[in-house]
Amino acid sequence: MGKALIIGAGGVASVCIHKCCQNPDVFEEICIASRTKSKCDALKEKLDGGKTKISTAQVNADNVDELIALINEFKPDVVVNLALPYQDLTIMDACLATKVNYVDTANYEPLDTAKFEYKWQWAYRERFEKAGITALLGSGFDPGVTGVFSAYAMKHHFDEINYIDILDCNAGDHGYPFATNFNPEINIREVSAKGSYIEDGKWVETEPMEIKRVYNFPEIGEKDMYLLHHEELESLALNIKGIKRIRFFMTFGQSYLTHLKCLENVGMTSIEPIDFEGKKIVPLQFLKAVLPDPASLGPRTKGKTNIGCIFIGKKDGKEKKYYLYNVCDHEECYKEVGSQAVSYTTGVPAMIGAAMLLTGKWNKPGVHNIEEFDPDPFMDDLNKFGLPWKESFDPELVD
Ligand code: NDP
Repeated sequence: MGKALIIGAGGVASVCIHKCCQNPDVFEEICIASRTKSKCDALKEKLDGGKTKISTAQVNADNVDELIALINEFKPDVVVNLALPYQDLTIMDACLATKVNYVDTANYEPLDTAKFEYKWQWAYRERFEKAGITALLGSGFDPGVTGVFSAYAMKHHFDEINYIDILDCNAGDHGYPFATNFNPEINIREVSAKGSYIEDGKWVETEPMEIKRVYNFPEIGEKDMYLLHHEELESLALNIKGIKRIRFFMTFGQSYLTHLKCLENVGMTSIEPIDFEGKKIVPLQFLKAVLPDPASLGPRTKGKTNIGCIFIGKKDGKEKKYYLYNVCDHEECYKEVGSQAVSYTTGVPAMIGAAMLLTGKWNKPGVHNIEEFDPDPFMDDLNKFGLPWKESFDPELVD
């Protein structure tokens, strides 16, 4: 049905590419392009021979002209950005110049400030609309499936949703004293930033990890979780009718937090460049280089993830509670595609988002967050491609 150019060949891209190959009627042809071409070639070698035709290319996604040249050569119907959030705008520029649809899983961040907001990408709305192309923002799990869950809850269960708590639990154990489950630089920028949530239309800021709760996660059990800022809060507060408060919590074990605090205290998580032996280095980028590669965690990680949303709102004048979540098993993911569940839960929705655009099930020129589309075909594909969802009408609530 179409051609996808996938940019990036890391943990998330690897899962997305496996899933494209499991869906060859939609993904007839893919090109894997990244900074390090050998990683693209390794993926091609592993997956070649099926119905999806695979090619590879080297590209520096910080360079718009290089991207445009590659798009003009391969002529994709959609570009799936699975590089890093720093590349979002250059890839969007290239898509605009070539009039090709765009999908990503994380909002743009400038390299020199850890700031997660949509304003830079939303600024492209009119230009995408005029060009007749769609940018689908945030098609991972969170953001991504959390937005689809919200749209589904709104469509099928509520007249208005007043409270959303997004709960992201990773109960996986990789056996290392400290490692991150996706790109360490992006992960540490996210968790060491101040926390925030939206209440009555305003952002309320907290110190990092200031708000802690304990939650009894289905199929996992009790875990400590902490309130974080997360990008989908910004779009969901605008797109879901009736929101009074929306929060995001993520689980962390004590060992992870102690290591992180120590690294912070000695300055290793800083993104301010320092002089080191006559060279400028960014401490966080150096830290990334010495930490385990998230891709290497796959064979070692045991346990499950549980990510979902608890909604409280009104239906026919009555208060209603609803919890939608997915449970994913690290070892099963590894068996299926050679990656742990954090990459899996992001790579599957990235493939589905691209499939929505390729099949024309979603077609809305402009720049849109995922909850702005019809959730039903996406929810069907989650069940079909390895992320089945579960629901509860009487969940434990977070105070
Ligand atoms: P990785 O670090 O494993 O992979 C990133 C890939 O992008 C690497 O192949 C890297 O190349 C490539 N890359 C980086 N910079 C460039 C560049 N300038 N030009 C071309 N390629 C480049 O990251 P992950 O796979 O863990 O994460 C990918 C994305 O997914 C991130 O944006 C992350 O924020 C997002 N994410 C979203 C989640 C969600 O639920 N929404 C959850 C988890 C992640 P090289 O091999 O040379 O380093």
